[in-house]
Amino acid sequence: MRIGIGYDVHRLVEGRKLILGGVKIPYPKGLEGHSDADVLTHAICDALLGAAGERDLGEHFPDTDARYKEICSLELLKEVGGLLAGKGWTIENIDSVVVMETPKLNPFKQKIKEKICETLGLDSDRVNVKATTTEGLGYLGRSEAVASYAVCLLKKGDGFLF
Ligand code: MG
Repeated sequence: MRIGIGYDVHRLVEGRKLILGGVKIPYPKGLEGHSDADVLTHAICDALLGAAGERDLGEHFPDTDARYKEICSLELLKEVGGLLAGKGWTIENIDSVVVMETPKLNPFKQKIKEKICETLGLDSDRVNVKATTTEGLGYLGRSEAVASYAVCLLKKGDGFLF
C-alpha cells in the first residue's frame, strides 16, 4: 500500500466559472488558471500521482501546453486514473478538503463526490469530500482564493476497480 498527498490553490477572479470536482458552482467569481482551474481535482490528481511515485500534475500536463488550455480537469483525473491502473495500482480511498469562505459547498458535496467516483470508476464509499473555512482569516478567509488538500491510499493488486 502507498499513500499520497496533494495540495493546490487557485485565485478567485471575475469572469471565470467556479468548477470544483467537475461541478459548476453558482458564484460571481471563478478560479484563475490555464485549465478550468479545478483546485479540488488538481489536489486529488497530485495525491494519486504522489502515491504512485509518478511525479506531479504540472509535469504530466504542463500549463504551457495549449492542449490543456481550458480543459475540464476531470479529463486529467481520468488520465491519471488510467496511468495508475496501467501500472497495477487500485485506489483504496481518497479523502479531500476544500478550503473556501464563500460560497458554501455543502449543497454540492454529494454531486462532486459522484463526479469523482464516476471519473475514476470507484464505488461511492471510496471518495470523501469535505469543506471548511478559515473563519475569515487570511487570503482564503477573504475569498481571494480557494485551496484544496487530498490524500489517497493505493494498493497494488486486483485492478478490478478500473
Ligand atoms: Mg492547479
